[in-house]
Amino acid sequence: MTLSVENLTINNGHQPLFAPVSFTVSPGEVVTLMGPSGCGKSTLLSAIAGHLAPAFHCQGNVSLNGHNVMGLAPNLRKIGVLFQDDLLFPHLSVGENLMFGLPRCYQGNERAAKVTDTLTTLNLTAIANKMPDEISGGQRARISLMRMLLSKPQAVLLDEPFSKLDKALRDEFRQFVFSQIQQRQIPAIMVTHDDADIPANGQVLNWPWQTS
Ligand code: ADP
Ligand code: MG
Repeated sequence: MTLSVENLTINNGHQPLFAPVSFTVSPGEVVTLMGPSGCGKSTLLSAIAGHLAPAFHCQGNVSLNGHNVMGLAPNLRKIGVLFQDDLLFPHLSVGENLMFGLPRCYQGNERAAKVTDTLTTLNLTAIANKMPDEISGGQRARISLMRMLLSKPQAVLLDEPFSKLDKALRDEFRQFVFSQIQQRQIPAIMVTHDDADIPANGQVLNWPWQTS
């Protein structure tokens, strides 16, 4: 799967937030998007995922494997988003949180089996029945990522995914995220303020995003 952004620009009703931007993300690649606070990074990700706030309108194209997705509702675009905030449902166990990410095509016992498989690969079967506040921050971060990946996204958008984690956890979780994206060969866009997050030899879009 390849993600292409072509001449995308977003207007807030008065003026464009940024000049038209174009770039392509290959399967398994993580493209880093940088820029000052308020420049429009999160808004650009919302436009790509298809849930732009009503205050904005966008022009340009977003395509997945050459298919334009601009006319599609967010759920049909199948683009997964991970934010900095830990968004596990506090009233659901780890296993139930993971199950929530599963598409409807999995039914009955298959759903529980998928969750068990996921926890087994992570060596985390022991926490299946724990609640989010009973596990560590690193475990919560991994479970949130896996819940998003279980929805089988065709592309992944990471909005400052590591910014609330302390240094040690940050390094470990970053490696985990990159290896999952690489294994699944999903294109990813990551917003960050920290140079240390940039993958080796990774494409970086620095503000103002003058790309072609
Ligand atoms: P960044 O993620 O780069 O910090 P944002 O994309 O969140 O920036 O915001 C870009 C600009 O759009 C800012 O000026 C912000 O105040 C404004 N903005 C963000 N969300 C909304 C919204 N829902 N409605 C109106 N304006 C918004
Ligand atoms: Mg933002």
